[in-house]
Amino acid sequence: MNRYNIIVNRLSAGILSCFLLFFISTFCTAQEVVKNYSIYTGVAKVQGKELLLLRKMEKSGQLTYLAVDPQTLSTQLLPASVAVAVKQMNWVATQTYFQNTPYFRALSAAGKQSLALQDAGITRGYPKEKGITLTIDLCPSHKPLDRIIFTSLIAEFKKIEQPVPVAISITGRWMLTHTDDLNWLKELVAKKEIDITWTDHTFNHHFSLTAPLKTNFLLEPGTDLNFEILGTELAMLQHGLLPSVFFRFPGLVSDQRVVDKVLSYGIIPIGSDAWLAKGQQAAPGSIVLIHGNGNEEIGVNDFIKLLKSKSADIMGKQWMMYDLSESVEDEFSTQ
Ligand SMILES: [Zn+2]
Repeated sequence: MNRYNIIVNRLSAGILSCFLLFFISTFCTAQEVVKNYSIYTGVAKVQGKELLLLRKMEKSGQLTYLAVDPQTLSTQLLPASVAVAVKQMNWVATQTYFQNTPYFRALSAAGKQSLALQDAGITRGYPKEKGITLTIDLCPSHKPLDRIIFTSLIAEFKKIEQPVPVAISITGRWMLTHTDDLNWLKELVAKKEIDITWTDHTFNHHFSLTAPLKTNFLLEPGTDLNFEILGTELAMLQHGLLPSVFFRFPGLVSDQRVVDKVLSYGIIPIGSDAWLAKGQQAAPGSIVLIHGNGNEEIGVNDFIKLLKSKSADIMGKQWMMYDLSESVEDEFSTQ
């Protein structure tokens, strides 16, 4: 391919990306009106705390930032009217400004654990934890949500741990076709029965049954990474969900180039050391992976069995569910 073609391809990918973001923000009639969603890096002060700004948008007509607390890794939507001393900085300058915070330590560690074609990023939490961090992937699917995962969790942890923390890796396509399931999850959050860390799992989540890993999932030639990342965040916001700083690669498949690209958006790839359906066992501090999209019966059954086997430990508070942000913060707060 000559240089002219490369430039034309990049330009058309950029135009397509802009068009898709415009299309989603204009024609998807969800509850929230979010416009002009884009990357913005800088620092803001809120109630004496310094927050890192990652995105800006116009939300219900108001300039708003998506901000992360680099100490706790928790995110929030910050209306410009509330933020004090907003200072725009480039990405490198923010890294220097917030160096040695758990957020940037985790980001840097994730970038160094990216050589294999599968399972890049943070794959486990704090080993001294008495319990696990549960991640549930919602890849595109025609089947309904496996609600039993959530009802079982709530039943087991009743009076022990409420709300029960879970991380859900969500795709744009799943959101488009599962309004009732999404509303049901939001109701559980509103009732404080569960607490959800919303993780970006890309918009389209393309995959091929025949392509080798190096050209499959997000490594498929022609993938518009900008849309896959920002388009999903925008869809989350339009459905009233708060994007976290976490990202899960479809199929857990990546290479160093795509990992570096994802990191440049300020989001941290989360792998897993216990994909239950693949026979991997959960250990203390494990980041457990199951699919809740109706396509992984084995994983869901294994998880229900695991829960039942830990019933006595749960009652004695010796086996807990950990919040993904807290888990990563613990792992990277003392290095
Ligand atoms: Zn997936």
